[in-house]
Amino acid sequence: MQFSEILGLEDIKKTLIQSVQNNHVAHAQLFVGKEGAAALPMAMAYATYVNCEQKTTADSCGRCPSCRKFNKLIHPDLHFVFPTATTKTFKKREDALSSAFMEIWRAFVLENPYRNLREWAQALGAENKQCLIPVHEGRNIIKTLSLKAYEAEYKILMIWLPEWMNVNAANALLKILEEPPAKTLFLLVTESRDKLLKTILSRTQHIIIRPFTDTEVKQNLIEKFQTEALRAGQIATLTDGNLAEAFRLNQEAKDDSQERFVEWMRICFRRDYSEMVKQTDKFQEYGKQAQKALLQYGLSMLREALAFKFGGEELVRLEAEAFEFIQKFATVIHEKNIELLSHYFTDAYNQLERNANPKITFLDLSLQVSKAFRMKK
Ligand SMILES: [Zn+2]
Repeated sequence: MQFSEILGLEDIKKTLIQSVQNNHVAHAQLFVGKEGAAALPMAMAYATYVNCEQKTTADSCGRCPSCRKFNKLIHPDLHFVFPTATTKTFKKREDALSSAFMEIWRAFVLENPYRNLREWAQALGAENKQCLIPVHEGRNIIKTLSLKAYEAEYKILMIWLPEWMNVNAANALLKILEEPPAKTLFLLVTESRDKLLKTILSRTQHIIIRPFTDTEVKQNLIEKFQTEALRAGQIATLTDGNLAEAFRLNQEAKDDSQERFVEWMRICFRRDYSEMVKQTDKFQEYGKQAQKALLQYGLSMLREALAFKFGGEELVRLEAEAFEFIQKFATVIHEKNIELLSHYFTDAYNQLERNANPKITFLDLSLQVSKAFRMKK
């Protein structure tokens, strides 16, 4: 991975690059970033940069033999440790170690390096299991690091989510951090620094990866998925710098949301309370992502309706079916209720985020919406 593949965060990239240029490569570094931040991709870009044979002051070259292997995560001097669990293939704990899952890990990270532990467990085939870094992994680390580097300047051990490390494994790691082998870099990538042993914290240099700004999330969506700017902006506002969450929300089927939203708004408009309750039961059954996507879609529609009403048709970039709906929707939206409606939708979204009961959230929202529709201009 190269720095240029991470959109935004130029300040952090610059600091990392300068530390290499000035020969200040600390042997143990802790990349700290919340879920959906760029801690893992940044650590990978850094590892690639350190070992690049033709680096510039801006980035790794991406073409030298080292870069090519790092980009595919197949460099023999790049080692990974991450939480694992037993699976159908690896039933014994001592077999279910990082080295056994490297193929899946490569595919998982190369596809999208912003995802969380729950998604990793799914990819691993260990849904509903707690993934951990077990004590056996500690032994593996020692074994791996006792070997000389094959071809790189620095041998790299990257540990993803060390907060899930068994305490004995952590102690083994600590011993190595105290007496590190020469030319070995430890790159730890954590989501919660406060769960790590104090002794590990004190032996690592910390690199804080701030969450993406709304503008950066928006740009990521536009460049990666060609998401329409308005929608990208709304997803960015809702996801609070969590890029993985933004990707999920973006991919949640637009078509489903459209149909669901149109039907729902019709019911709210008719003030049909029994239908409203039935609808809420239906929403309850959707997954959390689909529920959130529906609310996000609602917010886009509000904006589109407003754009249609005050800016004329050319502002609305929608497919025929949605456009037809917007024309009707715009007749019940006006200056007095638009702000209130946006507020209700955003509020409901935040409630779901905090694990509120979806049934209550959606029923409340339906009542609020139907009331707002009746407001006088
Ligand atoms: Zn290179």
